[in-house]
Amino acid sequence: MSKLKASTLRIGRRYRSNRLAESYDALIIGSGIGGLTTAALLSDLGWRVCVLEQHYTAGGYTHSYDRNGYEWDVGVHYIGDVGAKTRSRLLFDYISADKLKWAPMADEYDRFYVGDKVFSAVAGKQQFRDNLVARFPDEERAVDSYLGLLDTVGKAMSAYAISRLLKPWQRRLAWPYLRLRTPSLMFRNTHEVLSELTQDDDLIAVLTGQWGDMGLPPKRSAFMVHAMIARHYMHGGYYPVGGSWRIAESIIPQIQKTGGEVFTYARVKRIVLEGQRVTGVEMADGHRINCDCVISSAGLENTFNGLLPAESIKKAGYDRLLERVRPSIAHLGVYIGLKETAEQLGLPKTNFWIYPGNDSDAAVERFLKDPQAPFPVVYISFPSAKDPDYARRHPGTATIEIVAPAPFEWFKKWQGTSWGQRGDEYDEFKAQLGERLMRHLYDKLPQLKGRVDYFEVSTPLSTDHFCAYQHGELYGLDHDSIRLKQTWLGPRTRIKGLWLTGQDVLTCGVTGAMMAGLLTTSAIVGVRKSASLLKRIYS
Ligand SMILES: Cc1cc2nc3c(=O)[nH]c(=O)nc-3n(C[C@H](O)[C@H](O)[C@H](O)COP(=O)(O)OP(=O)(O)OC[C@H]3O[C@@H](n4cnc5c(N)ncnc54)[C@H](O)[C@@H]3O)c2cc1C
Repeated sequence: MSKLKASTLRIGRRYRSNRLAESYDALIIGSGIGGLTTAALLSDLGWRVCVLEQHYTAGGYTHSYDRNGYEWDVGVHYIGDVGAKTRSRLLFDYISADKLKWAPMADEYDRFYVGDKVFSAVAGKQQFRDNLVARFPDEERAVDSYLGLLDTVGKAMSAYAISRLLKPWQRRLAWPYLRLRTPSLMFRNTHEVLSELTQDDDLIAVLTGQWGDMGLPPKRSAFMVHAMIARHYMHGGYYPVGGSWRIAESIIPQIQKTGGEVFTYARVKRIVLEGQRVTGVEMADGHRINCDCVISSAGLENTFNGLLPAESIKKAGYDRLLERVRPSIAHLGVYIGLKETAEQLGLPKTNFWIYPGNDSDAAVERFLKDPQAPFPVVYISFPSAKDPDYARRHPGTATIEIVAPAPFEWFKKWQGTSWGQRGDEYDEFKAQLGERLMRHLYDKLPQLKGRVDYFEVSTPLSTDHFCAYQHGELYGLDHDSIRLKQTWLGPRTRIKGLWLTGQDVLTCGVTGAMMAGLLTTSAIVGVRKSASLLKRIYS
């Protein structure tokens, strides 16, 4: 394999211990959207915050990279709920000082290929409904009931988030209210809920056609997350103008205003404790940064099984609690470059979801047992078509990204090898998987045959290498009902001075992790200060 050139798309400041300020009010581990949101909001309250990111660029899963004249995103394909002044849009505007702009995708934002049938999701609640009813005329009542259930979950989400914010004693006091406001429906399994509305397996497959957005097929996911994602995109998909790296780039200046910084190449080796109290972090270069407030946005697994001493975990009772949550599945990515524009190639502003049939659970099981079985889902995204600024940055070219699930275990034997030099056997395995995924692309867009200039494949080991997910987790923790019922999973921890943020606090997704940032900030600064912050964001 020819040597890959490193990406030149880098944001954040390279860490050197002599570049650190004398002191910080908070240290944040990880510069994903969760960490950056928390940093920006604390900075807005006058704190000096230091974000420590192990990667060569800031942004976590929102980072982009370039190679051979092309640019790709790794973990952002579309974001919902930003077309109007919604809660998420106002928060994006606030933390980016209105610098972040959004481009709408096509009205048909998602297209689902279910076996040999084709369905779609279209923007707008009424349009979404009418489009489904037109395809499933006998299921009108089921579709309306389904939309009603989505509203029920939507109304309950604030209570769910508040339950994560409260201190344990406050949660006990508020429990009767919280139980009333968070219906058990939220924690039921998605397929079970939907099969009470309809027996049409195609309709269920279409309604759950975005299960890849949280990584669990319908019989294994919690309805709450299903509903949250369906609602999130119901008014259409949007893409950050200029590419997903613009998210971090537009937030960082807010952190710098109060003397804070976002350092890259800044791997935290461990969180330093005195007893069960945080006193700072030790960096990979051995330097120690003292601070009594450390916020981890590095994910639960990294934080508790990588950065903290086992005896402290045990003492706080986390060893037993951690048994209740599992890492989400890993993924393969194919990053494709073409030497013509999206218009010339006829690339759509619509995501493709390709399923072998209408039973995703069975397809996942087959695939996990046998790598040669069909991929249970193949997702194809056309970033250059979605980004109105792409042609300015990379004229005359287009990009495509493919994502498909793949268990980390298939790649485990190469763990410990270096990126770009994992050996022939690994390259061969990766190439086979990549070719299979490319066939899905040519099958749907045959005009692309012979026109692809470049493609490369990432595996769960790439996710570990760049984004520091030890099992290549696509979405942090699995979004099953058991995880979502864990009330201890929130911004607060049992270790004094240690806080959590990011996708493991509430749910995955850029917006889910950003909302976790707001929640963590509120938990840290308390009711009075967060009330004034909320007023500024939402007034
Ligand atoms: C392939 C893919 C596609 C996706 N598509 C979408 C989409 O279209 N829309 C959407 O809304 N969401 C999407 N997501 C999900 C979304 O990107 C994530 O849920 C979200 O960005 C997670 O943010 P976070 O802040 O929790 O964590 P991350 O972005 O993962 O950030 C954690 C950071 O911590 C750093 N870190 C870890 N350990 C250390 C350490 N010891 N020292 C220093 N730094 C450390 C990591 O390097 C990383 O940068 C996708 C995800 C993937 C993987």
